[in-house]
Amino acid sequence: MARRKHSKRNKNLPFLAGAALILVAVIAVSLAFLLGGSEEEIPTDSPVTSTAPSQTTSEVFPTDPVTDVFSSTGSNVTSDPTTDTEGMTDTVTSSKSSSTDKNQTTTDTGTKTDTGTNTGTTSDEPSNPLLTKVPKPTDGVKRIAFTFDDGPHYDVTVSIADMFAQYGGKCTYFIVGNRVAGRNAEAVSYAASKGHEIAIHGYTHDYYYDKCSDSRYEQEVTLTHQAIVNTIGVAPTLLRPPGGGMKNSRVKASPYAVILWNVDPKDWYYKKESKANVNQIVNHILKYAEDGDIVLMHDLYENTRDAVEILLPKLKEQGFEFVTVSELMGDAKTAGQRYSGGYN
Ligand SMILES: [Zn+2]
Repeated sequence: MARRKHSKRNKNLPFLAGAALILVAVIAVSLAFLLGGSEEEIPTDSPVTSTAPSQTTSEVFPTDPVTDVFSSTGSNVTSDPTTDTEGMTDTVTSSKSSSTDKNQTTTDTGTKTDTGTNTGTTSDEPSNPLLTKVPKPTDGVKRIAFTFDDGPHYDVTVSIADMFAQYGGKCTYFIVGNRVAGRNAEAVSYAASKGHEIAIHGYTHDYYYDKCSDSRYEQEVTLTHQAIVNTIGVAPTLLRPPGGGMKNSRVKASPYAVILWNVDPKDWYYKKESKANVNQIVNHILKYAEDGDIVLMHDLYENTRDAVEILLPKLKEQGFEFVTVSELMGDAKTAGQRYSGGYN
C-alpha cells in the first residue's frame, strides 16, 4: 500500500514540477515586460532615422542615434557615402575642424573629426568657455580612450569588454538608463567587473540636454545615475549628453565632467554589416588616432565589435594603451567642465 502511494506521488511530481516551471516563466516574462527591459529593446523616438544624416536637420549632432539594432533592413548606406554630409551645423565650434565642416564627406579626406570638440553651445553663447584639456603625461605612454554610447547591449557590450581586457586595456560606456534590465543589466555588471568605466548618457536618449526642460534634463540624468548605482554599486562621475549638445549653464552646474570626443568613425552610419563598412570604421580610427584622444563608438552594432577586434592589436602594436576616460583625464578631471580629448 505504502509502496503504491509512493509510486503515485512520484508520478505526479513531473507534472507539478512542469507546472511550477511554467508559472515561473510566465512571471519572469511578465516582470521583464513590466520593467521594459528586454535585451532587444532600444530607446524609441530616435533623434535620427537610420538614413543618412541630413544637413538641414535641426539637430546639431546627428552622430549619435539609437536606431534599429542589427536590423537587416538598416539600409543606411544605400546612398553614396562620399556625397553624404556630416550633418554639422554652424552652431558648433571645433578647434580641429575647418569652417568647411558642413561640406565634409564621410570619407577620410578631411579633418580628424567634425564633432568631438563641439561645445553644444548655441550661437548666442560664447564658444568653448568650459572646454578644458588635460596636461600631457610625461611618462611617454600613448593613451587612447575608446567610448561606447547607447548600450548596454547584452552581447556587443560583453564582447567589447572582453576584447579590451584581452589587451590589458579598458574602455568607457556611456549608457542609456532605460536599457539597464535583464541581460543588458548583466552586461553592465560584467563590463564593470572587468574594470571598465560606466557613465551616464541619458535615460531615454530622446531628450537632448540643450533642448529639453530643466525637469526633463534632471530626470534623464538622475534616473541613469540611479540605474548605474543600482547595477554596479558605483556612482558615475562622467556624463555624455546624447548628441553632444548641452547648454553651458547645465555643464557648469553639473556634478559630472561632461565628456565629448575628438575621433568619430561614424560607426552608426556604417552599421550595415559588410567588410567594407568595418574597414571604413577601422581606417578612420587608424588614420586619426593620437595620444590623448577620445574615440566615439556605439556598443550596439556587429560592425563596431568587428572593428574593435581589428583595431586593438594594431593600435597596441603602435604603442597605445587603452584607458578609461577617467584614467585619461587623471587628476585634471573636473566636474562642470567639458572635455573632448587631446592634451594641452
Ligand atoms: Zn547616443
